[in-house]
Amino acid sequence: MSAEDLRKRYEAAFMPNYGVPPLALVAGQGSVVWDAGGKEYLDLIAGIAVSSLGHAHEELGEAVSNQVMSLAHTSNLFINEQEVVLAEKLRELLGGEGRVFLANSGTEANECALKLAIKYGKANGRTYFVAAENGFHGRSMGALSLTGKQAIREPFGPFAIDVRFVPYGDADALREAVTDECAAVFLEPAQGEAGVVPPPDGYFAAVREICDATGALFVADEIQSAIGRTGAWFAHQHEGVRPDILTLAKGLGGGLPIGACIGFGPYGELFAKGDHGSTFGGSPVASAAALTVLWTIEKENLLDHVTAVGTLLKDGLAGIDHPLLAGVRGRGLWLAAVLAPGAGPAVEAAAREAGFLVNAVQPDAIRIAPPLILTREQAQSFVDAFPAILDAALNANTDGNTDANTDADAAALKED
Ligand SMILES: *Cc1c(COP(=O)(O)O)cnc(C)c1O
Repeated sequence: MSAEDLRKRYEAAFMPNYGVPPLALVAGQGSVVWDAGGKEYLDLIAGIAVSSLGHAHEELGEAVSNQVMSLAHTSNLFINEQEVVLAEKLRELLGGEGRVFLANSGTEANECALKLAIKYGKANGRTYFVAAENGFHGRSMGALSLTGKQAIREPFGPFAIDVRFVPYGDADALREAVTDECAAVFLEPAQGEAGVVPPPDGYFAAVREICDATGALFVADEIQSAIGRTGAWFAHQHEGVRPDILTLAKGLGGGLPIGACIGFGPYGELFAKGDHGSTFGGSPVASAAALTVLWTIEKENLLDHVTAVGTLLKDGLAGIDHPLLAGVRGRGLWLAAVLAPGAGPAVEAAAREAGFLVNAVQPDAIRIAPPLILTREQAQSFVDAFPAILDAALNANTDGNTDANTDADAAALKED
């Protein structure tokens, strides 16, 4: 079946919320994927920072298929061993503390965090929430109400909870916004969907201090940043602070849908029996996948690998002198190449043409979030190819070659 045929059928069968993606992928191996026409790509986006162990990972496949063939689902009416071992493993990675709720996606992990914060607020006369401008916390109504990106909130407001937005990375603005009537502060350790924008050093430490001073809960949304993405298990560990509530998802399941919300100390015990739940949450299959991801990161020392390959990639890209390239930001294997205004979609399209999948996360930035197993050689191959990709994007723009751009524009709109 031709790719064009699939795109037509996709367009006719699906709601138009994503536009029509430019490619259909059919198979992968490690950090490489193939499209419906047999063309090979180096996957530098990993399904939006999800496929931590790459594609067709043997142990992940075995763990998932063994679990499906033994017991695919139990529901929360019964315990399954995989979910217990996973929750214990997450606690171990977090210093032996925390109480876990397992969900099926990022937005659900944040819904759990929000319900904990609402419960805490109601018990303590705390009536509002603080989050960051341009932040992203998900698409369900609770998570969307915390999301600071105007274009995606606006069509669905007003929202049922009072959320006040502050400029990201500005500790003084946060100090001013958070009083003893604030229930919780929701923040990402770097803003992923805004274009992998890190805050100034010391920001999370300041957030911790502000929350301690006022009694507001500090909720760290690590849905994109956790599970090795930045070279640490959790990005907040770089600053040596611990949030009160932590949410995870994307990279945790290695491609299987899973999310987790972890509460520390008394905040892990806020729910009473019956306060929250999920039919699929704690899935033995997703839990078996997540355990394989965590064990493999440990066994193969992937945190150090991410730091080394991320540095190679960041320094290599930053060393390129080109009129379209303004800089590189991020850490580990979670980077953005900052481009001339509006160049993102053309660079994404030119990279695809050259056999590299990246994502124009913003009009002026492409996001690079490959599998954590990306090799040095693969990273170097992208650094070597990038000047020609930028040239091609520059020429496409000056030629007014809008064909490539139309596809890329549609793809740029496709975000989680
Ligand atoms: C992706 C993401 C979400 C939403 O996750 P979904 O699984 O798409 O619901 C929430 N917060 C952050 C920081 C994310 O990157």
